[in-house]
Amino acid sequence: MSRTPRDQQDDDRMEFLLTLRRRGIADKAVLRAMDEVPRERFVEPGFAGSAYADQALPIACGQTISQPYVVAYMTEQLGVQPHHRVLEVGTGSGYQAAVLSRLAREVVSIERYRTLAEQARERLKSLGYDNVDVVVGDGFAGVPGRAPYDRIILTAAAERLPQTLLDQLAVGGVMILPLGSHDGSQHIIKLTKSETGTRRENLIPVRFVPMLPGQAQEL
Ligand code: SAH
Repeated sequence: MSRTPRDQQDDDRMEFLLTLRRRGIADKAVLRAMDEVPRERFVEPGFAGSAYADQALPIACGQTISQPYVVAYMTEQLGVQPHHRVLEVGTGSGYQAAVLSRLAREVVSIERYRTLAEQARERLKSLGYDNVDVVVGDGFAGVPGRAPYDRIILTAAAERLPQTLLDQLAVGGVMILPLGSHDGSQHIIKLTKSETGTRRENLIPVRFVPMLPGQAQEL
């Protein structure tokens, strides 16, 4: 029998999960979420054939959908529990939000481009991920009306720690972000907030699109 594009995609998905495990992703719930969310629905139609390759891909508005390994890694480090409310800054395609929605009670995701936010909202709705709220606005301001958050994740690189977002994190909460210069070196940083202060851990080197101030004036 001849192989169909669907067979190819099944193979790609199997390889995708193996790659994540081989690179050290061990959390069962995270692997299950990565397995469940159809990444091909979040990439541009022209890139559907590469949806399960371990690479970042272009999306509208000059942005990117992150590399699957980095999505899985940040999600694992975030330590999301089923009762958590999570804030994501940088909705983009909605892929990271979809993965989080499989693990958390509620996800609030903010995006500065209206076009991306609207597309992501539609996509998430059509996939039945109805515990995600996509908001258009400036992620530097967070979404104070829904704070505090048990977990906060930034998917665009900040040049310094955004204090306003840290203020919206619950005590006991964890925030993960790519930190570093927009054209130089960036690392994933994990912040854990306690009664007495905030503990900082520097994790892996990464390359993210910049976090930019204000809602985008272009669509
Ligand atoms: N999490 C996304 C990755 C998108 S790339 C996904 O899974 O597809 C990062 C996104 O952050 C871009 O869409 C960019 O427009 C957005 N962004 C950058 N600065 C922002 C800000 N200040 N507020 C909200 N979104 C921002």
